[in-house]
This record gives sequence, structure tokens and C-alpha cells, in this order.
Amino acid sequence: MKSRRSVLLGLTSVAGLGGCTTTSESRRPLATAPAFLPRRLAPILTAPERIVRITVCTRPFRAAGPRLDIERVGDATVIHNYGHGGSGWSLSWGSSGLAARKAMAVAGETGGPPTIAVIGCGALGLTSALQLQRLGARVVIYAKERTPFTRSMRATGTWTPDSRVADADKVDADFPDLWERMARESFAAHQTYLGTEGDPVVFHDRYILASATPASSAPPKPGIKTGPPDIHFASYGDRLRDIVPRSIPIPVETTPFPVASARFGTGLQFNVTELAHRLMTEFLMQGGRIETREFHAPMEIAALPEKVAINCTGYGAKALWNDQTITPVRGQITWLAPQPEVDYAVFYAGVAVVSRPDGIVIQNTQGGDMVGYGIEDETPDRAEAEATIARVAPLFPPIRRPSTP
Ligand SMILES: Cc1cc2nc3c(=O)[nH]c(=O)nc-3n(C[C@H](O)[C@H](O)[C@H](O)COP(=O)(O)OP(=O)(O)OC[C@H]3O[C@@H](n4cnc5c(N)ncnc54)[C@H](O)[C@@H]3O)c2cc1C
Repeated sequence: MKSRRSVLLGLTSVAGLGGCTTTSESRRPLATAPAFLPRRLAPILTAPERIVRITVCTRPFRAAGPRLDIERVGDATVIHNYGHGGSGWSLSWGSSGLAARKAMAVAGETGGPPTIAVIGCGALGLTSALQLQRLGARVVIYAKERTPFTRSMRATGTWTPDSRVADADKVDADFPDLWERMARESFAAHQTYLGTEGDPVVFHDRYILASATPASSAPPKPGIKTGPPDIHFASYGDRLRDIVPRSIPIPVETTPFPVASARFGTGLQFNVTELAHRLMTEFLMQGGRIETREFHAPMEIAALPEKVAINCTGYGAKALWNDQTITPVRGQITWLAPQPEVDYAVFYAGVAVVSRPDGIVIQNTQGGDMVGYGIEDETPDRAEAEATIARVAPLFPPIRRPSTP
């Protein structure tokens, strides 16, 4: 039996998984290439005293999927690019690439100068602006809030391209293929930021853990209700099996966690603060201009000097475009003080714990995609935050030191 401390320090290894043991068994050729090596995992400090902020935002969910059509408003053309639910960062490059190509085609048709407006400065607005610049356009962003004050800044920052992206029963027949194209373009584009200064995008180890007995259900959270049972959130992840790394089961003894089963994988992660800053910097360095402006009606967009615009107003489109097909899905994140020594994520008891340079991000996922459905209130809930942290705290018991004589 290995001591928990030796496991914590990564002194153990698994025969057959490529661990550095010195037993004769470990010197046998491996049957399969290793996908996992046990290693030291610094514990996450989960005391509520380490909470530095609690943020809440509403995901813009549309049962039919993101709105991507073209609309004529006065003498202007608007290409919509909003309503990406819980997958806005993940799908951003692909969805914005699609919108930018449409915008360029329209600008070309009218023979006008390729100066295009982007309404919104969140994940979709920034990537639309950059995709347009890469296609040769001059771009002006108009937005009420800019980075780092948009809703996009309150995202967990993981690769979740089909999270609350649509209702599988309500999409057009060609939507799954379209989604796949957007997801593939995005996955490739995000990876162009790997290994660049500030690590805006990284691949992180993640541990998916389960106890023998299902996690006790959390106390009801004030203000949290589940949505109607007739929603069937689309799940298209299998379409990307050839490009997205998959998790594998690992022996729990190779982890420091007191659980019954464990899986290990690697996942694409967006260090949102750095990523948004990078996108904004790139945009400005390439001659982009940004103007603070709030629009109250579509005709105000038609009055802009640019006659082609991409509408990336996210949840704001509900009011601006009177789009009653947008349903808010509330999500709260609890931020613990950053721990640079923690470079992994944990999923356990319906809680996602993701370490980023700007903090340890903790999100309740118990109850699945319905959690927060239909709730617009963006008021932080401290009781919910503490209850969520308490569910993962047992993974990181205090290390007892021998008492000195
Ligand atoms: C808790 C939580 C966790 C999430 N985690 C992830 C994740 O891990 N991975 C992922 O891919 N997605 C995640 N998401 C989803 C993601 O955050 C959204 O899909 C994404 O932020 C939407 O981006 P957006 O650019 O469309 O909208 P926003 O970020 O809301 O940007 C909209 C922009 O439009 C502007 N605007 C709006 N209305 C007007 C107006 N009337 N006039 C002028 N400007 C206006 C705003 O000021 C802003 O600049 C998460 C969401 C939540 C709530």
C-alpha cells in the first residue's frame, strides 16, 4: 500500500502506463503507448477565506442554435453572430469566420470600401473583428462594454463547443454539420495561440473523479430552478472524436484523491483574461478602432457610416433585436486566489475546478445544462459559492505533519 504522501509527491507509478519504476515488470515493452504518467499534484486551497470574487453571467441560449443569418436593416446589411449559449469561446473562431466571410462577400457585392462594423466586444465580437482584418477589411468595433467588462470575461474558459448550443429537436437539419465545421475551424484556430507569450490558450491535464456513492445532493440553491423537461440540449461531441483528446481510466492510487474511480485527460483551456487582452491588442495593432456606443434599436445600426455590420451582441440581442427566442441560462463562478503551482483541472461531485493564471475557477455543474435555465438574475450568491466549494473540499484534505516532541 502506497502512502498518500508518496502519491501526492508523485513517487508512485503504474506498471504498464509508462511510469518510471525499477521493477522487472516495468522494463517489459509496453503493449500500448502511454497516455498518462503519475505526477505530483499541488493541492488546491479550498478554504472559503480564499474567495476573491464571485461572478455571474447569463448564457444566451437559442433552441434553434446561434443566429447566423443575414438581415437587411434600412440601407445596411447585418450579419448576425449571436446566441452561442455556453459555447461562445469554444465556437468563436469558426462562427466568426463564417460571419466574416459573409460580410466580405456582401461588401464586395456593393462595391463599397471594405470597412465593416462589428457590434460587440465579447468573444464573438473580437474574433469577428480579427477574422475580418485577416480577410483584408478595415474594422470598427462599436460596443457598450469592452474587454474586460463583457459577459465573455466571466466564462470558465474550457473547450465546450456544444454546451447549451441548441435544442437537438429544434435545429434545422443542416445545423449539426454547420456546428461541426465551426467547431473544427475553432479548434484549429485556438491552437495557433498555444505556446505564445502569456499562454492565452493551453492544454491542461484534467482529472474526472467519482466517489463510490453518488455525491449527496447539494442543498437547494436560492434563485436556482431547473428548466422545462421538453428541452433536449444538443450533444455533438462525438463528431470531433478524431481531433479532440479523449480521457482514459486510471488507477486511483496514482492520484492523491480519496475517490473510487478516476479518469485522466487533457483539455483545451482558454486563459480568458490573457486571451481577450491578446485579441484586443492584435485588433488595435492592426489598425482596428473601437468606439463606446449603446444601440437601442436596429435602425441605429443602419445609421452607422459602415453599411455592413456583424451583430455580436450576445445576450444583449434579446433587448436590442427583441429576440424572444433567447433564453438566459444563469451561471455563477467562484474565484479562489490564484495558485500558480496548480496546473490541472478537477471534475468531481458536479463541480468543475479549473486553475487559471487569474484564479482558481469553481463552477457548479450539478443538475446539468438545466441549472440556471430561464434565470436572468446576475446577482452573486455567496451561499451557493460556499456550498459548491464544500463539495470538492474533501479532495484536498489537510496534510498532517508529525507533531514535534
Ligand atoms: C458561467 C459561465 C461559464 C461559461 N464557460 C464557458 C466555457 O468554458 N467555454 C465556452 O466556450 N463558453 C463558456 N460560456 C459561454 C460564453 O461565455 C458565451 O457564449 C460568450 O461569452 C458569448 O459571447 P458574446 O461575444 O456573444 O457575448 P458578450 O460577451 O455578452 O458580448 C456582447 C457584446 O455586445 C455588447 N452589446 C450588447 N448589447 C449591446 C447594445 N445594445 N449596444 C451596444 N453594444 C451592446 C456588449 O457590451 C459586449 O461588448 C460560459 C458562460 C457562463 C455564463
